Amino acid sequence: MLKNNIQIVWFKRDLRITDHRPLFQASLTSIPTLPIYIVETDYWEKPFSSKRHWCFIHDSLKELRKDLKKIGQTLVVRIGSIKDIFEDLSVQYNIQSILSHEETGNKWSYDRDNEIKNWCHNKNILFHEFPSNGVVRRLKNRTGWSKIRNLRMKEELFSTPTYLTPIVKIKEGEIPCKDDPIFKNNYSGIVQKGGRSEAIKILNSFLAYRGKNYIYNISKPGVSEQTCTRLSPHLTWGTISSKEILKLIKTKKESLLENDIKIWNKNLSSVISRLSWRCHFIQKLESQPSIEFKCMHPFYDGLRENNFDIGYYNAWKKGLTGYPFIDACMRSLNYNGWINFRMRAMLVSFASYDLWLDWRKIGYHLAQSFTDYEPGIHYSQLQMQSGVTGINTLRIYNPIKQSIDHDPKGKFIKKWVPELNYVPDIWIHEPWKMDLYTQKTSNCFIGKNYPKPIVIHSDVIRQAKSKLALILNRDGYTQRSKIVLNKLGSKKGKKNKKKTDDQLELI
Ligand SMILES: Cc1cc2nc3c(=O)[nH]c(=O)nc-3n(C[C@H](O)[C@H](O)[C@H](O)COP(=O)(O)OP(=O)(O)OC[C@H]3O[C@@H](n4cnc5c(N)ncnc54)[C@H](O)[C@@H]3O)c2cc1C
Repeated sequence: MLKNNIQIVWFKRDLRITDHRPLFQASLTSIPTLPIYIVETDYWEKPFSSKRHWCFIHDSLKELRKDLKKIGQTLVVRIGSIKDIFEDLSVQYNIQSILSHEETGNKWSYDRDNEIKNWCHNKNILFHEFPSNGVVRRLKNRTGWSKIRNLRMKEELFSTPTYLTPIVKIKEGEIPCKDDPIFKNNYSGIVQKGGRSEAIKILNSFLAYRGKNYIYNISKPGVSEQTCTRLSPHLTWGTISSKEILKLIKTKKESLLENDIKIWNKNLSSVISRLSWRCHFIQKLESQPSIEFKCMHPFYDGLRENNFDIGYYNAWKKGLTGYPFIDACMRSLNYNGWINFRMRAMLVSFASYDLWLDWRKIGYHLAQSFTDYEPGIHYSQLQMQSGVTGINTLRIYNPIKQSIDHDPKGKFIKKWVPELNYVPDIWIHEPWKMDLYTQKTSNCFIGKNYPKPIVIHSDVIRQAKSKLALILNRDGYTQRSKIVLNKLGSKKGKKNKKKTDDQLELI
């Protein structure tokens, strides 16, 4: 039987048709194009995957399908192992090429892509992967990296194709529903809405009014939800590209009236920097995939792995540590699937230094909770905030100070920890200091209605610092740090002598 020629556009974490190079490339030929998304059952078993991610993807796929239909060919959805599905398609069709974006993800996706590459090679099918952002494949070290990244970001967008030559008679396949049992790790709460139109909507509202106080509010829980861009899940699942966002920010900057320049410029520049950090962190995972499993600085491997206290872990994960601000942040994250940068850092700091939990274990809970789970940023940040990179300043957050600084009146705490609703403001950051009479009048007995602090911050931090000092003083520590810095560090970071508080997360 003579098989029809086709080309496949394989959608992964790039759920859009604008600025989508593989799709654009496919649209330049008259070969029938099969746009496919595969629900890889094996992936959804992994401890970093979650139903929350799927809900976001589900919205995005529905819209992607609509958009593709408009240009001639629906999105085909299949469920199972990618290799089996491609194998079946190769029985029916003569696949000439598979076009996709490069993905920097967990080792799981790296192995899968290699498997597909080999499979294509054996079948004589062209497997063409295109860069999707500023992350550079096969980079030896960071010298010159930011130049390449910035040039890429300045390139024109790949325009939205107007027509795809369709495939005759192919079943489109159903998009599994949001509560399909394929998606194992459940969540309770809400999920940020997915889909391309939502990405455009929130970017426009940010640029129109939400972003006016972006920097001022960036670390304020309860406020930053509205004033941060909230583009992170859209970037993770690719309903919009960084390049598109940068172009719109540039247009906004150019159109600012005299009076607005002062207010907007610093906020917009700050988003621009963060989009560059995004590539910077993902590049770390691209250059050294082992950072998903191993400490960047090898001297820290073995530091916390054997000390895993399940009681501490559960208290942290459920927001029952006895530290009101930590608990409020965790409960808010568990419900919303998002919390601001500083609060993420503080939650990791508390788990790492106060509870001495290993970053790999706490990382799974956070990965499942964040709708925006992006492996490159995630593992780099987990390692930085738990102090195992050897190239970053140790940042140990004091949960009481953070509480006073960012939630002085305890409004956020009371929203998420209702057990403390009647606790007077002066005790809200340290309710364990209330005398019995105040506990009674506040309807909150410590140890009964709300837990006692599971550790004493000042004591455990002293112990943590001495354990870390032993490592820092080991022979060869500095030499190893230099190797890490050379491979993974930002070459720009060293020049920025005076950094603001919020920039310290770079390097
Ligand atoms: C322990 C830890 C884990 C994290 N895990 C993730 C993750 O899995 N996915 C994720 O997208 N971000 C992660 N971050 C970074 C940051 O907290 C989020 O990107 C940000 O809060 C998302 O909200 P936003 O889109 O409103 O960000 P905005 O402040 O509006 O920033 C705009 C965009 O810039 C990028 N960005 C912002 N801050 C950072 C940063 N510090 N590093 C790299 N890129 C940044 C994001 O893509 C973000 O969408 C993590 C931070 C920490 C401390």
